[in-house]
Amino acid sequence: MKQNNLRFISRYKEAIHVSAVAILLALSWALRQFFTLPELVTDYLALAATISGGYPIAVKAIKALREREFIIDTLVTIAAVAAVAIGDYGEAGFVIFILLLGEFLEGVTVAKTSQAIKGLASLIPDTVKIRRGSEEVEIATAAIKIGDLIVVRPGEHIAIDGVIVRGEGAIDQALVTGESTPVERSAGDKVYSGTILATGALEIEATNVGEDTTVAKIEQMITEARTRKAPLERIVDRFAKYFVPAVLVFAVIVYLLTFDIRRAITILIVACPCALVLGTPTAVVAAIGAAARKGILIKGGRALEAAGKITTVIFDKTGTLTNGLLKVVEVKPICAEHDEKNVVELTAIAEKLSEHPLAKAILEKVAEWEYIVASPDDFTVKQGQGVEVRNNDLHIVVGNRSLLAENNIALSEEIEAYMQGREERGETVLIVAHSTEDCLGSGNRQDKNKDCCAKAVCGVISLADTIKADAKATLQILRNRKKRTKIALFTGDNARTASSIAAELKINVVAAELLPADKTRKVEELIAAGEKTAMVGDGINDAPALATADLGIAVGTLGSDITVQASDVTILHDDLASVPQVLDLGRKAVWVIRENIFFALLFNSGMIGLAALGLISMVIAAIFHQISSLIVILNSMRLLVMRKRS
Ligand code: ADP
Ligand code: MG
Repeated sequence: MKQNNLRFISRYKEAIHVSAVAILLALSWALRQFFTLPELVTDYLALAATISGGYPIAVKAIKALREREFIIDTLVTIAAVAAVAIGDYGEAGFVIFILLLGEFLEGVTVAKTSQAIKGLASLIPDTVKIRRGSEEVEIATAAIKIGDLIVVRPGEHIAIDGVIVRGEGAIDQALVTGESTPVERSAGDKVYSGTILATGALEIEATNVGEDTTVAKIEQMITEARTRKAPLERIVDRFAKYFVPAVLVFAVIVYLLTFDIRRAITILIVACPCALVLGTPTAVVAAIGAAARKGILIKGGRALEAAGKITTVIFDKTGTLTNGLLKVVEVKPICAEHDEKNVVELTAIAEKLSEHPLAKAILEKVAEWEYIVASPDDFTVKQGQGVEVRNNDLHIVVGNRSLLAENNIALSEEIEAYMQGREERGETVLIVAHSTEDCLGSGNRQDKNKDCCAKAVCGVISLADTIKADAKATLQILRNRKKRTKIALFTGDNARTASSIAAELKINVVAAELLPADKTRKVEELIAAGEKTAMVGDGINDAPALATADLGIAVGTLGSDITVQASDVTILHDDLASVPQVLDLGRKAVWVIRENIFFALLFNSGMIGLAALGLISMVIAAIFHQISSLIVILNSMRLLVMRKRS
């Protein structure tokens, strides 16, 4: 909010600066045309325009010179000083004016782009109402503390991240995630800053305030994104560094050959590689801005360029291709000791502290009979395998075959056959085992069923997931891309379940039963085989693979942290269709950048040629030079319009 004001003031100042230079120049010209004033007066006015306009440019040039760097401002300064030295005050002033005007226009256009991104934070209200007992008081947003109860009415923006404690309503998340339909939320649900309450009334307990809110983090990411240069940009920067001194030498040579100082000055003016230097960053900012409006955060030019070159897209299964909203479909107790309820209750204790979609499904199941789940004393997550906990003297193990094997717990052939049957249908089967001397705390049961109590499987639970509605269509879009894109499925789930899902989605490259480290290794193998890989995942267990792939894409990550940090692209909503969109945007951006560089080089060298031949004047040179910069910027702006795909 404050920053916007500052930026506005600085633009305002720039406008006054440009106008002042223009007025001085106009005055100088008019006085010479219409009055017979001594030339000295009009020259002084033009000189004043040159100095007042050129002063900041010269300061920058001198500062750079101290670091032994030749920058564009160096060329302009030398050109202006030389023009003044030969008495071309009017021309010197005009060249400076054109440069300032061009920079001002560039500033305005680029600011338009940034607005697309920055809009979010400015929408956060400055004050909010919070509940203190029975009273509602208005306080500054900056003064909200964790635990405060914020009262939100329809039409208001939610200022912080929090959990609804009272009320219900439809929340419009479009500004954050780009989703157009409001989502229904009620007590217990999380809400995020930057979203709007469309209908209803809410009381929200603040969980993240200030720098930790979703909006603040998004802003921070975008700001960082701009400082991360694309590889193409680095090449151009390096080139520009040698280009400027080369132009100086060339101008001197032309002067020595022709003794025409005006030609040499004109060369300095047209040769400024402004368009070249602007080509990449403007395209990157425009593309990032376009994506941000759709709830897609791209972490900078490197990520964008990588997105344009992807040849293989690897998907995680649970939570990425599937909804991750698993449902318990069958519970099979293994011994007489336990009934179905019993098995699920044991499992619930083990999963109580887990964040995995499987855990949520189990906890949802026991909630049906309002079972109060005891907190385990000791909780260990085995990524990609399951969980192990201790509850009093009971050791509970819930997970897949490899976790069981690690615990030296055997599976009977009968259970194995049963599990395979369920898995062939695409279900995930959890094995529940426990060990204790005192089976479930009841000594008498121990005698009846010894093998159930020692260290044994007490049941298996089958869970089914549903494939995301847009998964099929998205994969089809990927297959139909102009740039051929291969698709792979990497999952920690077992091979049969994975194959069943893969068959339905027509994916033929499948790797299953992967631990997080295996996923990473598999990605490395693809990279070694020459593929440019994008890994699409949702969970913490995908983080290493996301970081390893050429492009890590985290989906459905509104509110989760680790995956976001490991990824290059973060899709805040749950829309898989954004994946091909990101790849296409990257491709388009790379094209626009190449166009810009090609155009700038061609235009620049053409103009240098004309200037060396003495075919253009200083003033024309300045105008053409600015036009080339503006053309490059406008070309980049094309990226702002991100096409919708059906
Ligand atoms: P994906 O790669 O499909 O996202 P994960 O790597 O998260 O799958 O998990 C792989 C397998 O590990 C699961 O199919 C399950 O068998 C087991 N597993 C992981 N986490 C848990 C958990 N919290 N409880 C039980 N089993 C789990
Ligand atoms: Mg997952």
